[in-house]
Amino acid sequence: MDNCKHCGINVSYSVSKFGMCKLCEDIFQREIQILTESKDIINHTKNISTLLNRCQIALKVLERLKVFEHLELIHPPPAQIMKDIEEKRSEFVSEYWEDYCSELTQKLTRYESLDSVIKKIEETKSLFDKYKVHLNSQKQLNEAEHWVYFLISDHIIGGYNTLVREAKDYEKNGDNKSAVKKLNEALKCFEKTKNYFGEQNQNLDIELKDWITRISTKSI
Ligand SMILES: [Zn+2]
Repeated sequence: MDNCKHCGINVSYSVSKFGMCKLCEDIFQREIQILTESKDIINHTKNISTLLNRCQIALKVLERLKVFEHLELIHPPPAQIMKDIEEKRSEFVSEYWEDYCSELTQKLTRYESLDSVIKKIEETKSLFDKYKVHLNSQKQLNEAEHWVYFLISDHIIGGYNTLVREAKDYEKNGDNKSAVKKLNEALKCFEKTKNYFGEQNQNLDIELKDWITRISTKSI
């Protein structure tokens, strides 16, 4: 008579090759199979949803496999494999995010309306919230965040600055009517996108309105 190395139950028949009873061995083998399949997919997929999904499955399996750790059948130990998977996931997400944002920044130049730019940026921000939890290092997190700021500054604040610059040029050349037109466009742009402008810039609309009044008075 032998004992299952895992659950300790007495088995009247010979124990399996891993020294476990049939039930424990079946569970163990099944978990190892899921883990192997998942690791294979993690190493080969190019699809972020598949990768995230498989990492989650593998990590759950590894968590359950920890109870078998005392048998020393898994090399490296589950905790180490978990660390490796989390690192791999972080790298994948980091690279994916860079590609996603740089592609988007090229695409955004083709969007005509401010509304569609805002829509895309909002989508990007919520995607970022979804992915950032998988980024392991502060460096990767900073880089990923930088891409979001870059999109906002390039496509929203940049657009606003262009309108203001054009207004200045018109004013300098004495074309006050065109200057006011540009300032009104800038004002509309600011009102729609105020939340992207940072705390210290929340009164730009007051400045613009004063400016418009000043030029309009000058015109009369
Ligand atoms: Zn057992």
